Amino acid sequence: MKKTREHESTRGIWVFGDYRNYFQNRVTLQLIAKAKELAEKLATEVTVLVLGDQVHQFAMEYAAHGADVVMAVEHPALKTYQVETYARVVARLVEQWKPHVFLAGATAFGREFFPRLAKRLRTGLSADCVSLEVDPEHGWLIQTTPSFGGELLADVITPDHRPQMATVHPGMFKERVHDKRAVSRIVYPEVQVEADERVQLVRSKPEQAHKGNLEDAPVVVVGGRGLGSRENFRLLFELAECLGGEVGATRPAVMAGWAKEDRLLGQTGKNVKPKLLITVGTSGAVQYTTGIQGAETIIAVNRDPNAPIFQIADLGLVGEGRSILSLLLEKLRRRL
Ligand SMILES: Cc1cc2nc3c(=O)[nH]c(=O)nc-3n(C[C@H](O)[C@H](O)[C@H](O)COP(=O)(O)OP(=O)(O)OC[C@H]3O[C@@H](n4cnc5c(N)ncnc54)[C@H](O)[C@@H]3O)c2cc1C
Repeated sequence: MKKTREHESTRGIWVFGDYRNYFQNRVTLQLIAKAKELAEKLATEVTVLVLGDQVHQFAMEYAAHGADVVMAVEHPALKTYQVETYARVVARLVEQWKPHVFLAGATAFGREFFPRLAKRLRTGLSADCVSLEVDPEHGWLIQTTPSFGGELLADVITPDHRPQMATVHPGMFKERVHDKRAVSRIVYPEVQVEADERVQLVRSKPEQAHKGNLEDAPVVVVGGRGLGSRENFRLLFELAECLGGEVGATRPAVMAGWAKEDRLLGQTGKNVKPKLLITVGTSGAVQYTTGIQGAETIIAVNRDPNAPIFQIADLGLVGEGRSILSLLLEKLRRRL
């Protein structure tokens, strides 16, 4: 057994098993792989926590992807995710089992759930980490997270409070190969579960997924923070329709809710290779431009003549995004 210093009374690395959308969303599997590597350095185990009604099949999947332990809590009130109910149950489990580290994906779910949980547990949380390491000497989780709009990467530690919590960007780590012979322990802990009376799910229907194929589109029009509003961003959809293309977005546009995550281009999104790409109100951050470098021709619109996006554009237009888009649409519509 390696010598290590976990916090006196805490033990193990936990990963929250978000299995909804299992086949598209691989971040839990990526976290298990990373947690295994860190657990080795801390001489400890990786536990995946799964909540739901019938979670057996997911427990098996997490075992096959490297979990040492799967902790499964099954209850009808956990069938659908409700933040209050989940936070109460998970907080009880954490207080009871005292994990040293607790990780979740920086998905819409993780971004809502983990801050609430951290607040309940009175511990720290680093959001949207891009890298994780451990300092075995002190038992610290070193949480690397972008700050100042991605200009700097900060290494954060939580020296005094446990568990050390972080959410991690999807795509940062590689999942382990599925090994159906892998063995893990499945634990069904005793925990009190009561539904949140204040919220009741009446019905749900899956959101209409974006069907177009952004990656193979011949024309892509992209909007960034500089577009300023959802209303302005909508002009891109009109332009894409006129040009027979698709719409892409930068991270801030997705975060503002102007476009869905599946339209994100760049390091943590999709890579496109259209014949023509029009990019409006985007500064040209390298994390974005890696996703568009396969484009044959790039036209950039930005009101700042010194914006870095002009360095990779074949044609640059300096001006207000909205006015240029409106003008372009007007001209195109006259031709159609
Ligand atoms: C690890 C990591 C991964 C990341 N992954 C991605 C990723 O996959 N994809 C991604 O996009 N980002 C990613 N980011 C974020 C990235 O670093 C940038 O912050 C982001 O791409 C900037 O988006 P933007 O160009 O829309 O916004 P900004 O950088 O804020 O640029 C807005 C631009 O709009 C211009 N502008 C303002 N008003 C107007 C107007 N009225 N008309 C015309 N132009 C105007 C401004 O001059 C400015 O140049 C990542 C960051 C990190 C740290």
